[in-house]
Amino acid sequence: MELFTVEDLPLIQKGDDIAAMICERTELEDHDCVVIASTIVAKAEGAMVLKSAVVPSERAMNIAKRLGKEPALVQAVLDRSANVIVEFPLLLVENLNGHVSINAGIDDSNVEDNYFLELPHDPDASAKAIGEEIANICGRDVSVIITDTNGRAFKIGQTGVAVGAYHMHPIRNWRGEKDLFGKELEITEEAVADEVSSAANLLMGEAAGGYPVVIVRGYEHHTTDDVSVKEMYRPENEDIIRKGLRCLRQ
Ligand code: GDP
Ligand code: MN
Ligand code: MN
Ligand code: MN
Repeated sequence: MELFTVEDLPLIQKGDDIAAMICERTELEDHDCVVIASTIVAKAEGAMVLKSAVVPSERAMNIAKRLGKEPALVQAVLDRSANVIVEFPLLLVENLNGHVSINAGIDDSNVEDNYFLELPHDPDASAKAIGEEIANICGRDVSVIITDTNGRAFKIGQTGVAVGAYHMHPIRNWRGEKDLFGKELEITEEAVADEVSSAANLLMGEAAGGYPVVIVRGYEHHTTDDVSVKEMYRPENEDIIRKGLRCLRQ
């Protein structure tokens, strides 16, 4: 397995054709996985919010005051949230797409001053559009994973996680396969899209590196099925962590 960056990508602007930019700079092969930072997908799609144009509600102002955050940021987060899971000491939400993260993935890093950058509004659709466009331009059947850097419960340190997928099932099911001693595995489902995202994130970095696209070659988990990162989202009624957090709030 081999991972490498796409070199010389410019600062991405609204309307940029990310698929074309990748094809111009890389010799892709069939079943490569093209891993793309959500940041540049959001920029290309114009998923940005002018800070001064946000009008914070009373609720946003109250949450912001408690958190010591900008009211405009809190409002931008609420605008992209289906569910606020924790309000304090951090703002943990389920966004409109079902992804659970701090601040709905909204921040102002690696974007022009005065703007918040949102996550792409439908990252599976973005991944599909880019994957199909790559097939059109260079005739290669690739998978696409869109990533964001997220924190984790219980542990210090952020990692890359998948927020959108195309041509790669986010989960690899090991159930029914035999271990070294012939015992059948009963539980293990491997979150391969998150693992691929973390690996790619090692090359992306978080700061001014300018490497928002990483190609993963030689990891065979390609499919032509319709896929979605939602395959990884635990149904709310089976989620004991959410239940626990709800109990704490009461
Ligand atoms: P996120 O994890 O999706 O929030 O993305 P980050 O903000 O951590 O950026 C990941 C990588 O992409 C870093 O190497 C950034 O320098 C790079 N990056 C972000 N925006 C751009 C851009 O517009 N153009 C280029 N070439 N690189 C970018
Ligand atoms: Mn960022
Ligand atoms: Mn981010
Ligand atoms: Mn990042």
